[in-house]
Amino acid sequence: MCGIVGFFTSKGEPVVRDIVSGLTALQHRGQDAAGIVTFEDTFHIKKGLGLVNGVFKKKHINRLKGNIGIGHVRYTTQGSGDAVNAQPFFANYPFGLAMVHNGNVTNFHELRTSLYDDYHILPDTSNDLELILYTFASELRKHDLKEFRVSDIFDSVKATQQKVKGAYSTITVIANKGLLVFTDSHGIRPVVMGRKTDEQTGEMTYGFASESTCFDYLGYEVIDDIKPGEAVFIDNNMTVHRQSCYQEEQAFCIFEHIYFAREDSVIQKKLVASERVRMGKKLGERIKAAGLTPDIVIDVPSSGYFAASGLAESLGIPYRRGFVKNNHIGRSFIAPTQKERERMVRQKLNPIGDVIKGKKIAVVDDSIVRGTTSKRIVKLLRNAGAEAVYFISAAPPIKWPCIYGIDMAVSTELIASNKTVEQIADFIGADALVYQTVDDLKALYADLPICMACFTGDYPVEGSLDALKVIEDERMKSR
Ligand code: AMP
Repeated sequence: MCGIVGFFTSKGEPVVRDIVSGLTALQHRGQDAAGIVTFEDTFHIKKGLGLVNGVFKKKHINRLKGNIGIGHVRYTTQGSGDAVNAQPFFANYPFGLAMVHNGNVTNFHELRTSLYDDYHILPDTSNDLELILYTFASELRKHDLKEFRVSDIFDSVKATQQKVKGAYSTITVIANKGLLVFTDSHGIRPVVMGRKTDEQTGEMTYGFASESTCFDYLGYEVIDDIKPGEAVFIDNNMTVHRQSCYQEEQAFCIFEHIYFAREDSVIQKKLVASERVRMGKKLGERIKAAGLTPDIVIDVPSSGYFAASGLAESLGIPYRRGFVKNNHIGRSFIAPTQKERERMVRQKLNPIGDVIKGKKIAVVDDSIVRGTTSKRIVKLLRNAGAEAVYFISAAPPIKWPCIYGIDMAVSTELIASNKTVEQIADFIGADALVYQTVDDLKALYADLPICMACFTGDYPVEGSLDALKVIEDERMKSR
């Protein structure tokens, strides 16, 4: 998973500050690396490992000149975590192109082979962005580009979308021509478009970002989500060209709303916080049906909060903060060993004894992946004197790995892939375990076609099961 932004202004002012602010707002989407490319006469670039505020110093901001630019925060799912894999990437033909993406390409071996066989291109890195970039560049090159036509860009996007399988939202600076955005044909990963108009001069700035939260404090109005298979091109006159290039059935990643996106973002016209409240309320029905009568609801901070508040509302019982989270401990999810993950969870969360003691607790987390967090949480609550612990997951059982950009471990590590709900309850030591059901989630999203492959194994992209095998083999080898 990654975060991307792109800005283009007619004002001639540098866009770098908006890019840095936008990336900072998207820091939750990736903390491994960050990068920015701007364009003025030539490309200007700075990328490096680490957080946005560590990578970009004043001297970089001063030299990242230009009224057009893109930025990226990286969460490694494909390719190594080395600096060489940090985005943006360039291609210098047929025009200078600089591109960022969020997602995962699934037919990478096939693309590598055909890029080599057909165009003698050998990508430099193991980052799948190169495959999208070079495929697009090769398609663009097939056109007679003596006269620049927007239709050539859209035709090349279409051919790229037909060839490159998987999930990707991309933003590209085309040197001296404009800013291009396109998504994969199913629109799995989000990208939203925003606009700001200078009140005095009427001059326009356009922005694109993985999540709308970037735009809020930069003063942009959100215009729209980019649709599956769509491309948007802003030319040098600030004219917006939009075209549906190669569209298949929409499959928006529901895990964005469940866990990944920030609560204050509006994605697919839905506020993430409100979606989580709805998920919590739905869980209330299941808890009542199971005959459970908790005294209070608490969350696993902080991604379980809105679902917990919805659940408390639906059960008519208080929500309380039951844990204090130490925000200075890294992410336990990506620690290399199980032992290390367990130690980090303990260090990260401390129960508030008086809230817990003697109570029947419904504790809500967004999801259970390996079961490490939930097992520790139950133990912490018991040690703090809980009378009973009911573990509640806002997501249905995760049985299948995500191959579209959310790092979720291999299937053998997914606890729900080889255990029943009763066995999982037993493993984590809970008195009861209640999951969201796939049918309830479907009912909540009757108006938006979603990808639920991690729950159902129904992968929307052609060839995904073959890709899954290759990805799992590679992940196993790298452990
Ligand atoms: P686990 O301990 O493996 O069951 O992980 C579950 C916890 O990890 C939950 O508290 C989630 O908030 C969090 N989580 C779920 N998916 C991811 C992900 N792809 N990356 C990082 N954290 C995640």
